[in-house]
Amino acid sequence: MTTLDACDLNDPVSRQAFDAIVVDDPRVTDLALLRSAPDDQTTPIFLNSQDTKDHPLADGGLPDDLATVLTKARARQDKNALLQDQSSEAVVLSWLWHLDTRMIAPVIDLSRPEIYRYPVLDMLGGEAANTWLVRACQRELTIPISVIDRTRNCATCASAHLNYVDRCPYCDALDIKREQAIHCFTCGFVGEQGVFRRAERLICPKCDTALKHIGTDYDRPIERMRCCGCGERFNDPRIKATCLECGTINAQADLQTHTFRSYGLGPAGEALLKGGAAPKIKYAPLAKPSDQSNSCGHSVG
Ligand SMILES: [Zn+2]
Ligand SMILES: [Zn+2]
Ligand SMILES: [Zn+2]
Repeated sequence: MTTLDACDLNDPVSRQAFDAIVVDDPRVTDLALLRSAPDDQTTPIFLNSQDTKDHPLADGGLPDDLATVLTKARARQDKNALLQDQSSEAVVLSWLWHLDTRMIAPVIDLSRPEIYRYPVLDMLGGEAANTWLVRACQRELTIPISVIDRTRNCATCASAHLNYVDRCPYCDALDIKREQAIHCFTCGFVGEQGVFRRAERLICPKCDTALKHIGTDYDRPIERMRCCGCGERFNDPRIKATCLECGTINAQADLQTHTFRSYGLGPAGEALLKGGAAPKIKYAPLAKPSDQSNSCGHSVG
């Protein structure tokens, strides 16, 4: 075992191939930089601290069966037919195969319009992650494991940074309010409860009838919202999603959906790594970003 400080990690002279790297504190060590070093693109990186065992670029805490895990990883490294291939695809597949626990998984990143990103693909892949995932899945280099989340995206710019607001269904105004309305049985007048109040009593402002008993003299209509713009009353406001990136006000039916999944190594990917027969590659034309989807489940649109 060799102990390095943060400076050593960037120094090619002190660097050598390790079976695994144990990082004491990922807040101090730049794991992105570490992972991007050619020697460390697939090397297991374990975290030693109790409170940060799930950094997306690391492989969790130190496993109990470390020796077994590393022996298996080394054996795979030895027979990895893609080891000398520095293409981003080969590196991603090699990274996936190196440890059984690895998956290509999305993490939340609020600085991105799409909200999620795949850190490992950011680090290793040259292509846009979504495009690569769709292609890799079509070719069975990777397979979907589970659905992590689904976002709704702006129909204009595809951003998932949306603000859902309730609006008047008649004039689209934002200025709507809940009201307690009363319906006078004598004359049929409907108005807000406030206009019926006189001292402690409820008096119809139109026909002057004293409304004493609900169900006999008056009732409360179901319409509970009123628009301060057009004055219309309604039950259900219309929910629309304002895009915080481009300002488009999207009807809910117009929003695109994007399902984020985690992915593991697929049968064709494993065959490539083992140097087996090159899998039949189905080069399907790439779908447009607005309607990307395929049978293995990654979908945009
Ligand atoms: Zn937008
Ligand atoms: Zn209105
Ligand atoms: Zn009345």
